[in-house]
Amino acid sequence: MASPDEGQTEDSDSEKADRLTATKRTFLQGTGVALGAGALPAGASATMNNSAGNSNSVAEAAGGMVSSVHEQATEAGVEILENGGNAVDAAAAVQFALNVVQPHSSGIGGGGFMLVYSAEEDEIIAIDNRERAPLGAQSDMFLDENGEEVPFLERHTNGKAVGVPGTLKAADVAVKRFGTRELGRLVQPAVELARSGGREVTVDEFLASAIEANVEDGGLGPTAKEVFAPGGDPLEEGDELAQPDLADTLRTIRDEGIGPFYKGEIAEDIAETVQGAARYRKKGGNMTVDDLGRYNVEITRPMYVTYEGDAHDITVRTMRSPTSGGYVIGQILSILEGFDLSQYDRRSFDVYHRMIEAFQLGFADRNEYLGDEEFVDIPWQGILDEDYIEERRKIIDPKKATDATREPGDPFAYQPGDQYYTSPRDVKAAQNVSNASGNKGNKSDSERPSGQTTHFTTADSDGNLVSWTSTIEQLFGSGIMVPDRGFMLNNELTDFDSEPGGPNEVQPEKRPLSSTSPTIVLRDGEPFLTVGSPGGWSIIHTVSQILLNVAEFGMNIDEAVAEPRVYSATGTWVQAEGGVPDDVVDELNAAGHDVSTVETIGNAQSIRVEEDGDYVGVADKRRNGSADYPR
Ligand code: GLU
Repeated sequence: MASPDEGQTEDSDSEKADRLTATKRTFLQGTGVALGAGALPAGASATMNNSAGNSNSVAEAAGGMVSSVHEQATEAGVEILENGGNAVDAAAAVQFALNVVQPHSSGIGGGGFMLVYSAEEDEIIAIDNRERAPLGAQSDMFLDENGEEVPFLERHTNGKAVGVPGTLKAADVAVKRFGTRELGRLVQPAVELARSGGREVTVDEFLASAIEANVEDGGLGPTAKEVFAPGGDPLEEGDELAQPDLADTLRTIRDEGIGPFYKGEIAEDIAETVQGAARYRKKGGNMTVDDLGRYNVEITRPMYVTYEGDAHDITVRTMRSPTSGGYVIGQILSILEGFDLSQYDRRSFDVYHRMIEAFQLGFADRNEYLGDEEFVDIPWQGILDEDYIEERRKIIDPKKATDATREPGDPFAYQPGDQYYTSPRDVKAAQNVSNASGNKGNKSDSERPSGQTTHFTTADSDGNLVSWTSTIEQLFGSGIMVPDRGFMLNNELTDFDSEPGGPNEVQPEKRPLSSTSPTIVLRDGEPFLTVGSPGGWSIIHTVSQILLNVAEFGMNIDEAVAEPRVYSATGTWVQAEGGVPDDVVDELNAAGHDVSTVETIGNAQSIRVEEDGDYVGVADKRRNGSADYPR
């Protein structure tokens, strides 16, 4: 049953989405981590046989675990654990390495959300490093002179799309607060990777295809193009990926800390690049050095919901605003809890239909009410209220699909107080107008491909855990690379609604609404598993389904991650991975769903703590990830 929050404290046009899906299809045929059999400590095991994408990368060991989407990033984390660092140190090293080996997915030019379970404090802490709008941001900055929304591709490669980055600050704060190593030590593996000396990095199939697609459609600015398509020729799979400017930037951070990035020479270069994006794009943004200096992460307590499953009773701790993930996952699980889903076959119509309907109800409220709670009063209490959940659950017809996008409910009726906005404008009135036109001003559902973020997770021998989802939003973010600095700038501000007036309108210093959902699950009060995924809106579906697979259907974490997923948010359309049985797809269509089959939804990394204390790490077969552990 849902419980309220404990502590107060998305991507391009459909063509591009299709290309990316096609990319992933072949990318699955990658290599796992090569392990000599003699390298396994007693009791440890690893199956990295994800060739042909038929199985996850799975490893089991007692002394620690790292799972990420890239073998060399996982190695960087494992190395830190082997040298006595803890899970937070390892997570920082993984993040820096990912900036190098997957520069299109995350990095110091972006932001994200991080959960830490501190064994010493027996506490889960959230480090919110979501990008903020600069002070000069305006609510209508994504509209043209006629008041029309600037087309997405143009919007997302514009300096105005760049939010003040939080990733580096999060690494620094987390390591100072919970780590045991100097930040510089944790940057070192990434420095070596970026130099491509000693630790050579080659372009993999996914990166190659991302480069090709972004060169073709103009998604990469000129500086980034020089790195990823030198002389106009896109790097191809197997080519060396040398990033000397990035290596220099990482060396500066290694030697001088984060100061230069937030208030020194790198900050000046970031601000100049964003403002001067006119050199690259039609319009620049207005981020200043001051905006970077003002940036700080927020340390909060994650929200929680409980779920009583047939297999396990779990407490789900995940992110609160400015991501919608926690609230929507909480609502979905709470609606589904009442259906006792384990009475049905996991791949039956009865399960998929109810899940799809719960997703659609969750997204109706998400898209109506949620935004950065520093600026708007979001009805999270109502959304998770038992009676409200009951009311919403009753809407679901057991045999028939909704024939249109679900209407939001009235969660404010289920919580005390009146709605407030800190924005001076009459937001509610504006919201009503915007609803009437059916246009929330954000990316349309069909504009949302499966997302290009990354999730990674670490564990150590003391029992500390990290679950961190990190993003620069689109593949290669804004496409703008800071000249001579070698890192990409995010385009996270496109997660705001383009049209002013709703709870997710642009405001100075506000954080755009996210779907990111790094999660740590407890069972009987003890850490049980970590999970998270990229995928824009579908992050919510991926995480929810994995949690149901474990708690309701009793799957182990490998099975839970591998299980085919479905996605639905608005309208009647549903995406289903190929493993959903054909006859069930027919039944779903007959009930009024509009199902299309897609290759992959999400890309989860997870660690489960077994009864005997062993960690089982899983990297999703849907990309070429790697779970591994210290020897
Ligand atoms: N910008 C997205 C969000 O915060 C994450 C990027 C993605 O995975 O699509 O929800």
